[in-house]
Amino acid sequence: MFRAIRINACKQILQELVIPKAVQQRPLSVTCACLRRQEKREEEENVRDARKGREYNPADAETSKQYLQSKAYRDTYGDDPVWKFYRRNFRGHIAPDTRLTCVRKGVISTGNACPVCRDEYLCISYKNRDLLQQFLDPMTGEVLPSKVTGVCQKQHQRLLFEVAKAQDYGYIEKYFPLRKYNYSEYYKLAGLTKEILNAETEEMSENSV
Ligand SMILES: [Zn+2]
Repeated sequence: MFRAIRINACKQILQELVIPKAVQQRPLSVTCACLRRQEKREEEENVRDARKGREYNPADAETSKQYLQSKAYRDTYGDDPVWKFYRRNFRGHIAPDTRLTCVRKGVISTGNACPVCRDEYLCISYKNRDLLQQFLDPMTGEVLPSKVTGVCQKQHQRLLFEVAKAQDYGYIEKYFPLRKYNYSEYYKLAGLTKEILNAETEEMSENSV
């Protein structure tokens, strides 16, 4: 049903390219023509390549959920998060902000689309809990910065929104730090008497002990 995307295209072409024995015995020109034809066929088959100029038609949340359970997904990513092996190209050693968007006018406008835009079956949605959790810090539960995951700004903003929505719906757990406030400084402003003030401060000190 789902077809695995080619993340490392050149490497996989070399691995997948099996030349038949009959073709190997033919003259060189014929072999080259056959190879070219085979490469072209493979390219046509793998339409969902992460290449420039490809039309971008993202899947809906339900299809994406099924894709995350499929064999094609496991063959491509394994147990790792989708952004783990994504590498950005930039000059120098200080990573700049990620690009604003990978898709312009419905077409992939870059040769190295971000980990979400390059795979059409990945849909960032509050219903797609497994995908969202790949972008969360396991210690703090916050969304990882875009410089770490490499997703473009458009997808990152969508990610922040959908994670917050998923937390509201209760699909993802949210931890709140326990805070105790001492309001005694504000009692004068509220016009409270000294007796109430003393009683309140005593209660506060008892509670804190
Ligand atoms: Zn992108």
